Amino acid sequence: MTQPIEELAERAATGGLFMDFDGTLSEIVPRPQDARPLPEVPDLLSELAHRFAVVSIVSGRSARELAEWLGPHVEIWGLHGAERARDGIVELADAVRPYLDSIHSARDEAVASIERPGLAGCIVEDKGAMLGLHFRDSPDPDRVEPEIGRLAGELAGRHGLIVVPGRMVFELRPPVTLTKRDVVERRARELGLDAACFIGDDTVDLPGYDALDALEADGAMCVRVAVRSAESPSALIERADVVVDGPRGVVRTLGELVRLTTEE
Ligand SMILES: [Mg+2]
Repeated sequence: MTQPIEELAERAATGGLFMDFDGTLSEIVPRPQDARPLPEVPDLLSELAHRFAVVSIVSGRSARELAEWLGPHVEIWGLHGAERARDGIVELADAVRPYLDSIHSARDEAVASIERPGLAGCIVEDKGAMLGLHFRDSPDPDRVEPEIGRLAGELAGRHGLIVVPGRMVFELRPPVTLTKRDVVERRARELGLDAACFIGDDTVDLPGYDALDALEADGAMCVRVAVRSAESPSALIERADVVVDGPRGVVRTLGELVRLTTEE
């Protein structure tokens, strides 16, 4: 096992594990609603939550479903920090509340627009305070990508939202700063962590690495883990301290952390 993982294990009591969900703890699936954590994940996270100062999931997905799948011991941030699940209740960040009506209107228009024959397989995912326009399940993703991108841009312009591209998806979000960086950096500072790890597979995870850069500049020991797949952005792989193969590689690394923190 790589040295950064061993160093991280040594600092578990004052360290934080932050990670993405889709493509990191779950395999990427054509329909986002079908994703589930790999079977070992809930138990591994619970184990680690007892050893590390915090285990935190920071995902673009809604907090409610993550809380259901991953159990009570991990901290759950949904919609890139716009939601936090706590004791069975999902709290919405104040900054996004004023945009809920705009999101709902954009959703209705997106559903109507996406029902064209040429856009078969495209899906509107309603995440409450955000929308995902997915084209992974389209028979011809390369052809529909610019079309879905254009639709996202039009809806964003009309409803005062912003477009953030991801893996085979365009997200429509409220125009407020919502990145994984804010969650990771804020929680690390609130908890006084002297070590932090971020695990992710996608462009939207780069802000997680940015948070680690800031914490590292202040003396924390930081480990950036990239999950390699056919779609991994090169920027993520280039900045990583550790690269693992797919969600199975993440499960192995989490298992290694459990083992390293169990030894006397
Ligand atoms: Mg992901």
